[in-house]
Amino acid sequence: MIASSSRFAESLFWYLLALTCCSILLFEFGPERVLDMKGGPLSVTVQQAADAAPGAVRYLPSADGNPGVECILVASPDSYPSCGLVLTLTSRQQGINLARFDMLHIRLSVTGEGEQDWRFYLRNYNPAYDKVDDPLQPKFNEIIFRPADYGKSHEVPLDVFTPATWWIKYFNVPLQQQGANLDRVYAMEVVAGSDMPPGKHGVVIEELQFHGPWLDATLFYRLILFVWFIYGCAFFLVNHIYMKQRLQYAHQAKLEVEALNRTLSEESRRSRELACYDPLTGALNRLGGERLLAEIDELACSFIYLDVDHFKQINDTHGHPVGDEVLKHLVSEILRHCDALCHLVRWGGEEFVLVCFHYDRLRAASLAERLRVILAAYPHWPSALRVTASFGVAERAGDPLELLLKRADEALYQAKKRGRNRVEVN
Ligand code: GH3
Ligand code: MG
Ligand code: MG
Repeated sequence: MIASSSRFAESLFWYLLALTCCSILLFEFGPERVLDMKGGPLSVTVQQAADAAPGAVRYLPSADGNPGVECILVASPDSYPSCGLVLTLTSRQQGINLARFDMLHIRLSVTGEGEQDWRFYLRNYNPAYDKVDDPLQPKFNEIIFRPADYGKSHEVPLDVFTPATWWIKYFNVPLQQQGANLDRVYAMEVVAGSDMPPGKHGVVIEELQFHGPWLDATLFYRLILFVWFIYGCAFFLVNHIYMKQRLQYAHQAKLEVEALNRTLSEESRRSRELACYDPLTGALNRLGGERLLAEIDELACSFIYLDVDHFKQINDTHGHPVGDEVLKHLVSEILRHCDALCHLVRWGGEEFVLVCFHYDRLRAASLAERLRVILAAYPHWPSALRVTASFGVAERAGDPLELLLKRADEALYQAKKRGRNRVEVN
């Protein structure tokens, strides 16, 4: 589950990267957002002074339907011409946020004589100071056309617009509010300038478009950053959980292997141990005996070599299983009467070697004699048999163990030769 989440996070990385690149390319070089004002104003009206002569101002669109106005201006140095065309976009309080755009594409064409300086206004409503119902109150953000500007398309950055100076003076606008505002533009006006010569003049709006990005650049890049931030956090989290889970698995596997190793080494230790014991009697077997001898090193010790007398006869008379039982009883009795310094080894068949550490020959001989008596008087032999054994004792006197064993064997041989059920010391 977590592993597949991690793979998903990886592929998501590539999708996000591709998406980011495409978005940036589209944002930087893709189509702009365009608002064509000619097509959809709420209303197109003309503007004229209250005392204007009849017919002095009339709406006169071009042959192909572009909005226009015709003004007959008279010489009047004191008053403002007050003739123009008004494109109302919304109600005064509503307005359109043109601050989202950064360029105005505009083309005006004019008719009439002399130098004409038509003004283009973006009227912006501001609830902070548009309190009274004065049509002049909303801010006049203006650009002024020069005679050479007509009939051509212009791309005008919107930050070129500035509030008209007469408007600032007229309303005594404080310094802080003298900047342009385009966030609530409710109307656009093309108005005859004060320096226009008397006569008949006309203006037609041939092009009026606002261009800008679909999203504010800061917002756009912030969004991208935010998406990557979320992705980074999610990726870190998934990876963290994934790594933690893998560590847990690895730890678990390590514990399992360690437990298995412990079991195996315990089993091998037990099987090594078992390999050293005789399964019939429980005494050390030949292998165990050899290992024991290998560990003796320079220790003082005595060997008691013992052999059951006429054992073949027991087997022959009472059967092999009875012979086995005799061996079991023999070992059990010997071990019962030995101390921890003595180790009994079944050297082969019905022959045993008792290895006694720190036993001198007298002590070993005395133990052998005691065992001989005990065995001879043992009342529980199978089939009520009478079983005896012969013993050969030898003390280590600096000689190698093979020689010690040989001497004990020779003593046993003497015991057999001298009539069995005896202890001989060599
Ligand atoms: P001696 O008094 O001279 O030692 O005579 P013995 O008959 O004891 O000696 P011998 O070497 O002739 O016979 C030993 C017998 O021990 C022969 C063999 O069948 C028997 N034997 C060896 N191992 C086992 C065993 O594990 N079980 C049984 N039942 N008999 C065994
Ligand atoms: Mg024997
Ligand atoms: Mg024998």
